Amino acid sequence: MERLDKRAPFTATGGIIPPEFQNIKTPCYILDEKALTENAKLLGEVAERTGCKMLLAQKAFSNYDCYPFFEPYLAGTEASGLYEARLGAEEMAGKEVHVFCAGYRADEFEELLQYADHIVFNSPSQLLRFGRMAKEAGKSVGLRINPECSTQEGHEIYDPCAQGSRMGTTRVQWDEAIVKNPELMELLDGVHFHTLCEQDSDDLETTLASVKKQFGDLIAKVKWINFGGGHHITRPGYDIERLEQCIRMAQEEWKVEVYLEPGEAWALNAGFLLTSVLDVLKNGDTQIAIVDASAACHMPDVLEMPYRPPLLGASDETTENEVTVRLGGPTCLSGDVIGDYKFSKLPEYGALLLFGDMAIYTTCKNNTFNGMPLPDIWIRHADRTMQQLTVFDYTDFKERLGSRE
Ligand SMILES: *Cc1c(COP(=O)(O)O)cnc(C)c1O
Repeated sequence: MERLDKRAPFTATGGIIPPEFQNIKTPCYILDEKALTENAKLLGEVAERTGCKMLLAQKAFSNYDCYPFFEPYLAGTEASGLYEARLGAEEMAGKEVHVFCAGYRADEFEELLQYADHIVFNSPSQLLRFGRMAKEAGKSVGLRINPECSTQEGHEIYDPCAQGSRMGTTRVQWDEAIVKNPELMELLDGVHFHTLCEQDSDDLETTLASVKKQFGDLIAKVKWINFGGGHHITRPGYDIERLEQCIRMAQEEWKVEVYLEPGEAWALNAGFLLTSVLDVLKNGDTQIAIVDASAACHMPDVLEMPYRPPLLGASDETTENEVTVRLGGPTCLSGDVIGDYKFSKLPEYGALLLFGDMAIYTTCKNNTFNGMPLPDIWIRHADRTMQQLTVFDYTDFKERLGSRE
């Protein structure tokens, strides 16, 4: 599969590795307060202008030490599972907690009700099984719909509208269910869709037309609609005005409260992964450098999506950058390759390399495969002081594998 090339402007570092990054242990993630706050402000402005409510989808970013940066601008958090729901309830106290999960469990549902106030079901049968219980606990109940409108190409694992998808309820599925169980309608307070991934508002507009055509009658009967995540709102060039038109259309057409629950957009281009070169070698014509960060362990989306992350100082555009170097991690996986990058000169043993856009889907998704230690997580505060958030050690690896003393 082709790797998507992602580029991030390194404006947050002034184009260099800043002095405050020079003497910390690598590999490590660095979360940037200033960039996180700027993203949050932009999202907050959309909420303020339109009256929609913004949620943080925690699966993309859940470094809760940073939640205070977001707090003034959001209505609450969105969770994909029990522990995220609890984290949102604990760390964003007093705000709304929404949860969507493709399959709720009977043995967890009561605990979930302690944390969440909005519960979205994936199917009519899940709604039937748990909806009444949620309602009786005073929760707002939603159904995730599948508008059957694919707006992305090439990344089928991120397309909930793909053929045979298990995500969301199609109109046919709903119509069949409502014939058998007419009481399902009374359970519904809201409708949810999530079909986008790193997309602009033209794709939202396309999706909304399909939502309207297929589910407009249903939405007119409920109190809220949730547009899900995948809105790349904080990416330079994103068409915010069109987004706001979409929000206003829904508000006017259906007289509903509109929720958005982006994940990425909160922390886009707001973090780094700092790494050091451990070895430089050559195989035939291929120049290689092994770094102390691993794609497989520390930036799993690089392999899963797959994409090539932005790297400070490496560019395909300038002719000075003549040495192409394949950067790979220290693990035993042959495919633990971050990407091929052009440098002006060959990096040496010990050189620092700085990957950009590393706050999202990294710290909350990494792993200790191969017995790799977890990288430290730091915040760079707005005044450029550094704060270390985590101290990981051998027990983080061992305790999830067993219990023998
Ligand atoms: C993943 C997800 C989000 C967040 O998506 P981003 O692409 O990070 O904005 C929001 N809602 C649901 C239901 C999701 O599954």
